[in-house]
Amino acid sequence: MNARILEIEDLTVSFDGFKALNNLNFSMDEGELRVIIGPNGAGKTTFLDVITGKVKPTIGQVRFKGRNLRSMSEHQIARFGVGRKFQTPRVYLNLTPRENLELACNRNKGVFSTLLGRSSVTERRTVSGLLETIGLVAKPDIQAGLLSHGEKQWLEIGMLVAQAPDLLLVDEPVAGLTDEETEQTGELLISLAQEHSIIVIEHDMEFVRQISRKVTVLHEGSVLYEGTIEEVQNDPRVIEVYLGQ
Ligand code: ADP
Repeated sequence: MNARILEIEDLTVSFDGFKALNNLNFSMDEGELRVIIGPNGAGKTTFLDVITGKVKPTIGQVRFKGRNLRSMSEHQIARFGVGRKFQTPRVYLNLTPRENLELACNRNKGVFSTLLGRSSVTERRTVSGLLETIGLVAKPDIQAGLLSHGEKQWLEIGMLVAQAPDLLLVDEPVAGLTDEETEQTGELLISLAQEHSIIVIEHDMEFVRQISRKVTVLHEGSVLYEGTIEEVQNDPRVIEVYLGQ
């Protein structure tokens, strides 16, 4: 059995008394590719914010690789092995894919030796390996600004992977992509899940069907349901929540 990589117990996050997360419990094993869905305002973004340390729990525990994250800064948590991909690609548009990846591979190298230790994905990848993984092997030297939206998303994923995170958090990776790019993104995430644990927030149910084995449904700051995509789509509580939107 795989080890637990993330364990969240009785997590509540209040903003001026409003509970964005409300007594949420969640766990996942190493090597899982988990999808989080839920209507707008369900707490999905706040959930990722807590894992990265951007938002601290009002109540409750977040344990990553057995360590309580409460006292760690965002930077320490990132160094400890949590990478986050935001919805909009954050790549250097005036540099090439190769240069972007070189920067990502060299970031932090040797400069910081942290007391917390770094991520435990042992092999840092090479730039050429990364170009291959993200499907940009034919375009290493064009300006990143000329890449399609999908290609920019993959490049940013490559830059995150260069940091060798144990856990990769990915927020709506296929919004605005073509069908073909969406499918390729799914294949990329599935292949990355062989080495990294991944949490994806997504609305596109076809895409969820392509990538996921287990789906967690958030509603009003708590876990409403967990199961396969088929179970989720047939669960009366989930249907009610979505129809009620
Ligand atoms: P989702 O990503 O599922 O749409 P969010 O995590 O963004 O949900 O938000 C959950 C709830 O918490 C929403 O009602 C939102 O308005 C509220 N919320 C999120 N961040 C803040 C904040 N910084 N201050 C006040 N309320 C917030």
